[in-house]
Amino acid sequence: MSKLEQSIFSIMSGLAREHEAINLGQGFPNFDCHEKLKALATRYMNAAYNQYSPMPGILELRNVIANKMNHAHGLTVDPENEVTVTAGATQALYTAISSLVSHGDEVIVFEPAYDSYIPSILSAGGVPKTIELFGPEFKYDWGQVQDSINSKTKMIIVNSPHNPTGQVLTYDDLNNLAYLIQDTDITILSDEVYEHLVYDSSVHLTPLAHNELAGRTLAVYSFGKTFHVTGWKMGYIIGPDTLMKQFRELHQWTVFCVNSFLQYAIAEYLKDEMTYLSLSGFYKEKRDRLIKNLESSELIPIACQGTYFQLFDYSQISTLDDFSFAQCLVKEHGVASIPLSPFYQQLETTPYIRLCFAKTNEVLDAAAERLLEVKGI
Ligand code: PMP
Ligand code: GLN
Repeated sequence: MSKLEQSIFSIMSGLAREHEAINLGQGFPNFDCHEKLKALATRYMNAAYNQYSPMPGILELRNVIANKMNHAHGLTVDPENEVTVTAGATQALYTAISSLVSHGDEVIVFEPAYDSYIPSILSAGGVPKTIELFGPEFKYDWGQVQDSINSKTKMIIVNSPHNPTGQVLTYDDLNNLAYLIQDTDITILSDEVYEHLVYDSSVHLTPLAHNELAGRTLAVYSFGKTFHVTGWKMGYIIGPDTLMKQFRELHQWTVFCVNSFLQYAIAEYLKDEMTYLSLSGFYKEKRDRLIKNLESSELIPIACQGTYFQLFDYSQISTLDDFSFAQCLVKEHGVASIPLSPFYQQLETTPYIRLCFAKTNEVLDAAAERLLEVKGI
């Protein structure tokens, strides 16, 4: 299903453990979630909220999600029919793809692409049509998208803020997308797990709030990213009731519902907007710290508008391919990173590695100290 037998995140985390390296590879925070969230989770578990929840998730949580979308984007989302709570974003993506894509349907995927998209498409019998974006800008070529669309195109997957490039979709991008699919039945699957991690003057735009795209978009979110709890695997999906009906048709028979007590805990925690509005300031400081720490190195940072990942061009240090370079970094210099080529089907190498800055300042500083030593490999 993928050019790697094991996910690149597992490979690099495994190497990090084996070599006792600092792990800036796989995307997860090395710090804990807020005490209040843990207290709420414990409270609801102890209060016996431990049985099945309703299939689409508890209404309390879906209500808070709908309010949040209203505050953030001015959207009116119907919590009954347009929101489903899922076991993380990965399940939402998989179920969305499996419920909408049939044998032979084509799905346009922009590469570099998050590693679960293509296996999910293939497992549904779909045909991935990849469009490569190239650094350092990773701009969309809408002419190429136009050329890729045909009567078999069922879905286009977009991801903004984008893992691993850190780029965000602009108004122009969304308008171009809307223009190209206006006379088709194409569905947009929008992966927005880093919605709150945007920096500087960038804003997060969702196709759900675009007039022409709203009626045909399913957008996917993750509490793992937003609340520093990647191990909880809690997320949700929003979209118009016609698409959501199809989504739930499959969700009902495969997952049914996700764990109850965490849904109650998150519903309460999420009511306080500061739990997520404070995130961009928090992570911007970390992004800036990592870049500043590496200023005197020959790792060149690529502009990052969002996510908690920073790409670096290492071509002034090494002519190794990106996978070998990342292996050398973890084995010989004690820092795990993620090479970019596994995010492409065809590309053998790139001049980029990705570093995750969702780490305590001490860890970011220690990693930078090691990386400053890396010269000419
Ligand atoms: N999409 C993107 C772009 C991601 O980076 C990730 C990884 N966190 C996911 C989806 C999966 O999220 P989750 O852990 O909630 O399944
Ligand atoms: N989303 C995380 C990343 O990009 C990894 C998730 C996973 O390991 N499956 O690093």
